[in-house]
Amino acid sequence: MDALIDGYRRFRAGTWQAEKSRFEELSRLGQRPRALVIACSDSRTDPQMVFNAAPGELFVIRNVANLVPPYDQDGRPHGVSSAIEYAVRSLRVRDIVVIGHAMCGGIQALLHGAPAEVSDFVDQWMRIAEPAKQRAMTAPAEQRQDICEHESVRLSLANLMTFPWIKSAVDAGALTLNGCFFDIRSGVLERLGQDGIFDRSRTEKLAVSRRRHAL
Ligand SMILES: [Zn+2]
Repeated sequence: MDALIDGYRRFRAGTWQAEKSRFEELSRLGQRPRALVIACSDSRTDPQMVFNAAPGELFVIRNVANLVPPYDQDGRPHGVSSAIEYAVRSLRVRDIVVIGHAMCGGIQALLHGAPAEVSDFVDQWMRIAEPAKQRAMTAPAEQRQDICEHESVRLSLANLMTFPWIKSAVDAGALTLNGCFFDIRSGVLERLGQDGIFDRSRTEKLAVSRRRHAL
């Protein structure tokens, strides 16, 4: 904890001072984040850092393996769905971004079973991603982790469309759903295209335009 408090003191002396006017404006006018980001809780895949976002720009939900459960009004508490509802219906974000990542422990648990010490909740949570596992299992064993990590993003995007007010907002052109994949080994972000393929070239606009210029 001491290291965290040290970090807080650096925040107060650095970031807080630099962003003070932004925080004051945000507290006065309220938040208007440009996007809802749904990411894994993994400590190596922080959306705020990956997107180099400022305070107030991203409304973030993080959970094991960046999963979205299907829309279900069963009367039980739904932490993920309630945060989605707030971001979409109250804050009216224009974009939802689901970001998966490499070396995901949640996906590993899905494919191979959760370790015994996390069996109370992780196994059951990861059952949401069973369709992603089924698709991954058709591939050679060494590719399954990578495929399933990408499939988990596609599945979350599909599950988002089961929320009636998300579907209607998407159909009306007021909301877009986006998929991304962050490789923690290389720091590269891939983006899911209309063709259903994750591609890093879609996030490297600068490099692409330079290449075009050279041609
Ligand atoms: Zn993960």
